[in-house]
Amino acid sequence: MDVRQEMARIYALVNQKGGVGKTTTAVNLAACLAAAGRQVLLVDCDPQANATSSLGVNPHQQVLTLYDVLIDRAPAARAVVPTAEAGLSLLPSAPRLAGAEVEMVSLMAREHLLKRALAPIADGYSHVLLDCPPSLGLLTVNALTAASAGVIIPIQCEYLPLEGLGRLTETIRLVQDALNPNLRIFGLVLTMFDGRTNLSQQVVAEVRRYFPQETFRTIIPRSVRISEAPSYGQPITRYAPGSPGALAYEALARELLTREDGAGRRQL
Ligand code: ATP
Ligand code: MG
Repeated sequence: MDVRQEMARIYALVNQKGGVGKTTTAVNLAACLAAAGRQVLLVDCDPQANATSSLGVNPHQQVLTLYDVLIDRAPAARAVVPTAEAGLSLLPSAPRLAGAEVEMVSLMAREHLLKRALAPIADGYSHVLLDCPPSLGLLTVNALTAASAGVIIPIQCEYLPLEGLGRLTETIRLVQDALNPNLRIFGLVLTMFDGRTNLSQQVVAEVRRYFPQETFRTIIPRSVRISEAPSYGQPITRYAPGSPGALAYEALARELLTREDGAGRRQL
């Protein structure tokens, strides 16, 4: 086992388009990384609180949520809750986080609030995943500013995505210039792939053409089991272990860890 004290890798899962699989990928990747022995924190940065409820945590019953951490400076450590998955902790969201987007505007260093809030706790984890809302507003900008390891962009294989990706890469460039010089696209994840449709094949080809290095080789299939798992408060690996969706997210976690190792070696 590697006993070196490593810095947490913080990834933001971002796509301003709604319903593309950000939360599903954040929750299931986080669970698979934890199952692979990593210490993982999932931060729900979305007022919809889907990541929170997908892990069986009731967003209406939390004493402290990301709202209190960002706006009232509650220590992040006090807001973090354990989950049923060993090695996976959650910093929950709640609907009132929607107000934070407005309230943050008048705060000092408003783009750095999340990064600063996570700093005291991040090194207790190997991986921190930030599940973002479907917008490029201040919550997402906070996530991009905190994302030391980069951005993971889920792409739904049911729409040709390039126009939306242009706006997203432009935002990433702006944040890189002004707030987080190390920000980069770590990977694009193709999700909801349906091999029977030409469109799915077309999206895969197009995304791989524009992002040949960044696009993960693992493709997440469209699967009813994946869409059912959140209502049971379980990641796919617990709800339907061995199913194609579970195997795909396990493969994605392995691919991410392999890439991280490769990046570490290149830096030596
Ligand atoms: P939002 O922008 O609203 O936050 P999102 O990008 O987080 O959405 P998800 O909530 O992860 O997207 O997914 C949107 C819907 O698609 C959900 O109902 C989810 O269960 C379903 N879904 C996600 N991935 C898959 C998949 N691989 N197969 C089938 N359904 C999926
Ligand atoms: Mg979501």
